[in-house]
Amino acid sequence: MEETKKKKKGLDLQWKILIGIVAGIVLGITYNKLFGPGVTSGPIYVQKVFFGYAGDIFIRLLRMMIVPLVFASIFTAVVNLGDVRELGKIGGKTVAYYMLTTALAVLIGLILVNIIHPGKGIDKEALAALNITAEVPEKVSDQGVGERSATIIIIDTLVNMIPKNPAGAMAKGDVLQIIFFTIFFAIMAAMVGRESDTLSNVIHGLDLIMQKSVMAVMIIAPYCIFFLVTAIFMDLGVAALSALGKYALTVMLGLAIHAAITLPLLVLIIGRYSPIRLAKALSPAILTAWSTASSAATLPITMDCLSRRAGVDKKIGNFVLPLGATVNMDGTALYESVAVIFIAELMGIDLTIGMQVVIFITATLAAIGAAAIPGAGLVTMGIVLTAAGMPLDGIGLILAIDRILDQFRTAVNVWGDATAAVVVGRMENAITDVEEEMA
Ligand code: ASP
Repeated sequence: MEETKKKKKGLDLQWKILIGIVAGIVLGITYNKLFGPGVTSGPIYVQKVFFGYAGDIFIRLLRMMIVPLVFASIFTAVVNLGDVRELGKIGGKTVAYYMLTTALAVLIGLILVNIIHPGKGIDKEALAALNITAEVPEKVSDQGVGERSATIIIIDTLVNMIPKNPAGAMAKGDVLQIIFFTIFFAIMAAMVGRESDTLSNVIHGLDLIMQKSVMAVMIIAPYCIFFLVTAIFMDLGVAALSALGKYALTVMLGLAIHAAITLPLLVLIIGRYSPIRLAKALSPAILTAWSTASSAATLPITMDCLSRRAGVDKKIGNFVLPLGATVNMDGTALYESVAVIFIAELMGIDLTIGMQVVIFITATLAAIGAAAIPGAGLVTMGIVLTAAGMPLDGIGLILAIDRILDQFRTAVNVWGDATAAVVVGRMENAITDVEEEMA
């Protein structure tokens, strides 16, 4: 009875969020039509700022929970596993799945872009009239991405996983470093044995408190998402979107194929789990990812949906999801491969098959290095462009419509993480109630 009640509440939430999104789109576009995008002063601007604040409050509340949640949940998961070899097995399978799905996503992107050729037949004068020109965006030049190769970035990421100071890692909110420290700390706690039980119980309590906190914040999610989406659509450059429409459609088609065919097939065949049921269970997280364009901010909701609504044991989700939010970005990888080839076509650069192989490899790796925040994929795209011998200023050509594409690719990133948890969860016999609930 209580289970039914809980489920009903969950169902309500996803619909509320969806209504918030649709209402936000309608209101934002109405403002956009009436006053034009990019208003920078006057009463409409003030309203936009306030809408933005409401969205920001929600994102801040979610981000506020990431560090204690990741620490407490991974600690509890590792201590409960009881056997370090078990952790190694889960880790190996998770990383293998992440690499496989990211590579598949890039492949889909490359195939589509070579069939559609979105850069050919684009009206360059229309682009110039909209101020869409080749230039290096500040956040890309600031990173010095161009000077670092993909291999160095990956080795850097791996070595940097070891924090010099765990308190510093927590203060910075560096999830990979927190994961490393917590696993190490939890293994040591397990080795100490009974004398660490008191601390383990305290951290278990923290884990429960954080889970409750996520549920509390989810109550305001639909309202904040409404304001957030309104502010985004008030600023949407509709003209730019239509000028670059062929490119946007190629990215979205690729994302749709990956999200609706490739990943569900893996869930169905290897995970022996209904992809529709999983999508329903994860829908609040996927909609939040779309609205916030941040896998990191969405992480607390993804973890909650996976354990409470999808029935995947926390010992899998607590570990697979934080790792996935930081390193597994199928949507970002797919988008980067399409964007780079689109830029090449637009700039009249001929890419050989060899160059496309380089793009395939570097887009896969660059996505791993991308941070789970809005616009991060745009920054790491510099790695792919440099590897393909292309100028970084090509990024300027796609900047105008990056936010909206970011929303779709982030939703796919989060969906990809959830499918990994189900596939690995099935391999580890860590999915409960599925048979009864699916029957
Ligand atoms: N915004 C994406 C994410 O958080 C990363 C990206 O920019 O592609 O997953």
